[in-house]
Amino acid sequence: MTDTPTNVTKEKSLNFIEHIVTKDLENGLNDGRLQTRFPPEPNGYLHIGHAKAICMDFGIAQKYGGVCNLRFDDTNPQKEDTEYVNAIMDDIHWLGFEWGKICHASDYFEQLWDFAVRLIREGKAYVDEQTSQQIAEQKGTPTTPGTESPYRNRPVEESLALFEKMNNGEVPEGAMVLRAKIDMANPNMHFRDPVIYRVINKEHHRTGARWKAYPMYDFAHGQSDYFEGVTHSICTLEFVPHRPLYDYFIDELKEGKDLADHRPRQYEFNRLNLTYTVMSKRKLLALVQEGLVDGWDDPRMPTICGLRRRGYSPQAVRRFVDMIGYTKIDALNDYAMLEAAAREDLNKRALRVTSVLDPVRLVVTNYPEGQIEEVECVKNPEDPEAGTHTQTFSRTLWIERDDFMEDAPKKYFRLTPGNEVRLKNAYIVRCTGCTKDADGNVIEVQCEYDPESRSGMPGANRRIKGTIHWLSADHCVPCEVRLYSHLFNVENPSADERDFRELLNPESLQTRTNCYTEPFAANLAPGTYLQFQRLCYATPDKSSTPEAPVFNRTVTLRDSWGGK
Ligand code: ATP
Ligand code: MG
Repeated sequence: MTDTPTNVTKEKSLNFIEHIVTKDLENGLNDGRLQTRFPPEPNGYLHIGHAKAICMDFGIAQKYGGVCNLRFDDTNPQKEDTEYVNAIMDDIHWLGFEWGKICHASDYFEQLWDFAVRLIREGKAYVDEQTSQQIAEQKGTPTTPGTESPYRNRPVEESLALFEKMNNGEVPEGAMVLRAKIDMANPNMHFRDPVIYRVINKEHHRTGARWKAYPMYDFAHGQSDYFEGVTHSICTLEFVPHRPLYDYFIDELKEGKDLADHRPRQYEFNRLNLTYTVMSKRKLLALVQEGLVDGWDDPRMPTICGLRRRGYSPQAVRRFVDMIGYTKIDALNDYAMLEAAAREDLNKRALRVTSVLDPVRLVVTNYPEGQIEEVECVKNPEDPEAGTHTQTFSRTLWIERDDFMEDAPKKYFRLTPGNEVRLKNAYIVRCTGCTKDADGNVIEVQCEYDPESRSGMPGANRRIKGTIHWLSADHCVPCEVRLYSHLFNVENPSADERDFRELLNPESLQTRTNCYTEPFAANLAPGTYLQFQRLCYATPDKSSTPEAPVFNRTVTLRDSWGGK
């Protein structure tokens, strides 16, 4: 397999951030260095939106010979956990990326503290003892100036002493904050004396009990970029209004040094929003904690581990990110595009397997009882090197219930009395009838085979319109198949006024327990990419065992939305 054609198209059309980077490198900015970072907060598992950021941060460093660090933005011990740290590292590796170093915002707590103390000394920060509600009320609006805090001009020594107290456990959470003293009338609300430190009386997963005062995002992020030597700090559009503050703190930090060409710069692209799902970590966490899904890696979740368990390949995820691209306009992307990317990629990769998900018995009445034949099946028609395996043919088979119809319309090319179909890789059979139970349900279909028509035989060339798949009833294994559809019932749950729990699709998981598959498929490891021929892409679930195989349907073979 070669990926040259995609590379060629990429060369032709750089995205806007690649244009910026190319220009900066040409101009020798930052001594011609390129350094990015991917800065997750370890307060949840990564989702497909993060994959978009990862492909940008790591991808651009890779493409232009730079380096991308993994930086844990661990400034809030309340929600952070090492479970998330480990999961984040796994997911980045799975996507196929490697970081230069692992860094943490907490690596800089000492430096940030010193910087904050310096700002207090210079009269550029003060401890405010008002409640967060009072502070919010004084913010003003974009068109009316805010009100100054009564603590704004308190003596430097007082602020220094209180800041110390904020950090030694004497101050309850919420009782005081440290604010930068900037401009309460600034049209950019982020400049209206932003809170830069708050008290959190909880142990940190890395720094333990050392700190009680923790820096806010705006006071940690840009400085961390600066300490690390990041050149291009790429993030999503909601940070556009934060950028002036990002630059402000770096200017303060550099203390007169000429950073003209040696400073991190923030660039923003549109975040990924997907139909029929949510991307907010808060909501995803609630789904997990309230047992509304089967963990972070539930195959219906938009998380990377969910997609992986569902049977997506990393290449499919990356292909999807390529398809949607990077712009400066927020949009809602169609879930169908993600599925299209999966089909495109899995078609190249998936091992073809026969499974019957809704079985009905087919008896080949003129095939000798007790006789069996091994027929050859191509493992992957898209990959000649994958080779073949065999499948056992016999007199009694399982076929899909909807591959038979007693009173079929004219264009029905599958089994109906009098009609011929090919049993894939085996014989042409003519349907002769069916048996029904007392309620009129078909319990068996009968047919006769043409002994000269086996695939590869001279008599096999007859033109037959329909081909169906089958399993020999005595040579297959029972299995469970989980059919997934959208987790939510509405296209854009995030824009809906109702509680997101009310919008869940009650039919997002359909478990089929009476399915059959080929014996070898029962032994495959989770993460093996499969195509259940004529049906769907699939993969063994993590709960699958050779005795009780379980498969997840990744995606149907064709987009059935609006169709059928
Ligand atoms: P939170 O809701 O907790 O703020 P977050 O989704 O912003 O979470 P972070 O861990 O802060 O998650 O994100 C790490 C990086 O991933 C950030 O640079 C962020 O811009 C990016 N990112 C997060 N969500 C998306 C998304 N939907 N599309 C593209 N990038 C995203
Ligand atoms: Mg965030």
